[in-house]
Amino acid sequence: MACERLKEVEERIRLACERAGRKREEVLLLGASKGVPPERLREFFNCGLSTFGENRVQEFLKKWESLRDLPINWHFIGRLQSNKVKYIIDKVNLIHSLDRDSLLEEIERRAKAIGKVQGVLIEVNVGGEETKGGVEPKELKAFFERCLKAENIKVLGLMCIPPYRENPQEVRPYFSLLRRLKEELEGEFGVPLPHLSMGMSHDFEVAIEEGATIVRIGTLLFGERP
Ligand SMILES: *Cc1c(COP(=O)(O)O)cnc(C)c1O
Repeated sequence: MACERLKEVEERIRLACERAGRKREEVLLLGASKGVPPERLREFFNCGLSTFGENRVQEFLKKWESLRDLPINWHFIGRLQSNKVKYIIDKVNLIHSLDRDSLLEEIERRAKAIGKVQGVLIEVNVGGEETKGGVEPKELKAFFERCLKAENIKVLGLMCIPPYRENPQEVRPYFSLLRRLKEELEGEFGVPLPHLSMGMSHDFEVAIEEGATIVRIGTLLFGERP
């Protein structure tokens, strides 16, 4: 069951890469595993999926504990409260949701304390939605400049959760905006930003066509969750 689903998603990623003239290895499949019990993650791991992204710190810590025997590449993809950074800093390879100064300062402080350089993505509010996290596009440059000063943080790219549209083609402009913002930062500051984390179950193919390097897929792999 798990292996079947993974194979189907893999196939669709492969086709999207082909259409876009990209190599399959350029796109990392991340299982967005909120609400999914650890035993299921283990099944998927055994089928070949090794990157998982969690949204909630308490839930993540429980799963991390029960799956410590597996070499999982853990990412944190949800909204992150500054006071919870200390619990995850030694456990995650990438934080996708850096979006404000208080969080920047806390990650820097905690990473320094354990002698780590923490990889992060800056989340951008591409739809200008009030209910969503993320840096506003017009504030991105200044925020990025402050990130560059943090010695124990390495910004590896940008992430977005665009507005939901029934027709995934209508999400395309938000994905291309994120790519443009990334390219502007690279040009202006002369630093490579290898990652664009964008695309979920219903729009990942469009995201791949627009340059996604990490697609975060939940429902398609794990089914509907409560
Ligand atoms: C849940 C979640 C996803 C996956 O969404 P699906 O539509 O279930 O694929 C991706 N990114 C984030 C930040 C999420 O919270």
